[in-house]
Amino acid sequence: MALNSLEALFEDTLRDMYYAEKKLTRILPKMAKKASSEELADAFTSHAEETRTQVGRIEEVFSLLEKTPRAKKCEALEGLSKESEHVMEEAEADSVMDVGLIASAQAVEHYEIARYGTLIAWATEMGLTQAAELLEASLAEEKAADEKLSSLAETANPAAERREAA
Ligand code: FE
Ligand code: FE
Ligand code: ZN
Ligand code: FE
Repeated sequence: MALNSLEALFEDTLRDMYYAEKKLTRILPKMAKKASSEELADAFTSHAEETRTQVGRIEEVFSLLEKTPRAKKCEALEGLSKESEHVMEEAEADSVMDVGLIASAQAVEHYEIARYGTLIAWATEMGLTQAAELLEASLAEEKAADEKLSSLAETANPAAERREAA
């Protein structure tokens, strides 16, 4: 697809995020299964549910553009999900698994925050107010998920565990 306008770039990036969010609906439940802390597992499970809503919001944005929702492979999320699979396969100690999962998940949240921030700026620029509002709702969820993970990282930290034991 030729990218000769902001509209085209917006649609291309929306298709990228459609792919990413759909893939995340499958990855987050796997991460929930691997988490040893119940709170972390719950955080992944509830974000998986939010992610299904986010997929629906992207479909709504496509429909506002009068376009059929079509996903385009997001190379960034492919890479990030490979990294998280590596952690899921290789981490042995529970606390190491949990901090590894948190780190992988935060890399994903930061990618999503960057993408939604850009999409919102472009939608606003093009006067697509309703689309911008839908994307804002997802951005707020990504930011909240990231903050929740930051707070869980403080208790999941294996170094902190060692300090308590000492
Ligand atoms: Fe998301
Ligand atoms: Fe991407
Ligand atoms: Zn690796
Ligand atoms: Fe997210």
